[in-house]
Amino acid sequence: MSARDLRTVDDLVAAGLVAPEAAPGLARVVDRFALTVTADMAALIDPADPADPIAAQFVPSPEELVTRPDETPDPIGDDPHEVAPGVTHRYPDRVLLKPTHLCRIYCRFCFRRDRVGDGEANLSEADLDAAMAYVAAHPDVFEVILTGGDPLVLSDRRLGLILDRLEAIPHVEVVRIHSRVPVVDPERVSAATAALLRRRFATWMVIHVDHPRELTERAAAAIGRLVDAGVPVLSQTTLLAGVNADAETLEALFRRLVTLRVKPYYLHHLDRAEGTARYRTTVEEGRGLMRRLRGRLTGIAQPTYVLDIPGGAGKVPIGPDPLTEVGEGEGGTRRWSVEDPNGTRHDWEG
Ligand SMILES: *Cc1c(COP(=O)(O)O)cnc(C)c1O
Repeated sequence: MSARDLRTVDDLVAAGLVAPEAAPGLARVVDRFALTVTADMAALIDPADPADPIAAQFVPSPEELVTRPDETPDPIGDDPHEVAPGVTHRYPDRVLLKPTHLCRIYCRFCFRRDRVGDGEANLSEADLDAAMAYVAAHPDVFEVILTGGDPLVLSDRRLGLILDRLEAIPHVEVVRIHSRVPVVDPERVSAATAALLRRRFATWMVIHVDHPRELTERAAAAIGRLVDAGVPVLSQTTLLAGVNADAETLEALFRRLVTLRVKPYYLHHLDRAEGTARYRTTVEEGRGLMRRLRGRLTGIAQPTYVLDIPGGAGKVPIGPDPLTEVGEGEGGTRRWSVEDPNGTRHDWEG
C-alpha cells in the first residue's frame, strides 16, 4: 500500500494517478478546493483504471473549475441558520457544532467544499465558549451533532474536552459525530478513542462511505472498535454517478455495512456544490435504484433516500412512493393503488 498521504498535485503525479501534463491545470483546482488523499484510500486506487470509483471521489479534475448556473457555495442553505460561529440551528431539537473546518480527506463532491480545508481551520476558544453557551441556553436542544470538517481530525484530548463540556449540559441527551475517518484513516480510531466516546449521553457515530471497496479490513476493525465500545454506528452515502449509481454497488455496500453492525441511514441525492456536475444523477435514477433494492435487500440495510432542499428549507425523503391515490373510499378513507416490491399494483383502502 501507498505509505503516506497524498497532499499535492506532485504527490498525485508521483503515485501515477495524474499525468504530468495535467498537473498545471490541477494546481489551479487544488488552490481553490483542498486536496488530501489518505494513504489507506490511495492504496485502494488502481492507477490503470480510468473509471476507478475511489479515484473518482478523491482525485481532482479540471471540471471542478466549471460552475453551472444552478451550483452555489452553500447549496443546502445552512448559512442563514448559523446562530454563532460554528453553530447551525435549523431544526428545533438538534444543532450542528463544527469544531473544525479540516477534513482527513477531501471529497471532490463535498457540499461544504467552499468552506473546508485551510482558512479558519479550528474554532477558537472564545467561539467554542460561545457555542457551549448557546447550547446551554437552549433546553430544546436534545442532540448536538459534531460535524465540520471532520471532528475526528482533532486529537483525542481535544475531542474529549468538547465531550466533557457537552456532558455538563444536562439537556444534551445525544451527541452524534459525523465522520469519514473510521473509513479513510481507520488507525486513527483506537480502542482508547472509542472508549472516550462512551458518556452520560448516548454517542452515535455516522460514517460517510460511498463504495464497498472503502470498507477494508482495517476500516472494518475500526468500526468494530466503535460498536464494541457501545457506540451505535450509522452510515450515510451520497449517490454519485461514476462511483455508486448502480444497484449492484449499492447492494454490496449496504450488505457489507450491516455485516459490520452499521445501519445504513441516509442515501443523499447530490447537493449542487460548485464544480460537481460530473457526479449528477437524476431523482428518477435514484428512485429506480431504491425500488430495485426494496424486496431484494434486507430491510435493515435500506437507507432513506433524501434531498436537502436548496435554500435552507431542510431535508426530505424523496424515495419512491408505493401509494397512488385513485379515489374516495368509505367513511373518510381513500382508495389507493399500492405497488408491491415486484412492481405489481394492488387496490387498497385506508
Ligand atoms: C442534516 C442536518 C441535520 C441532521 O438531520 P437528521 O435528519 O436528524 O440527520 C441537522 N441540522 C442541519 C442544519 C442539517 O443540515
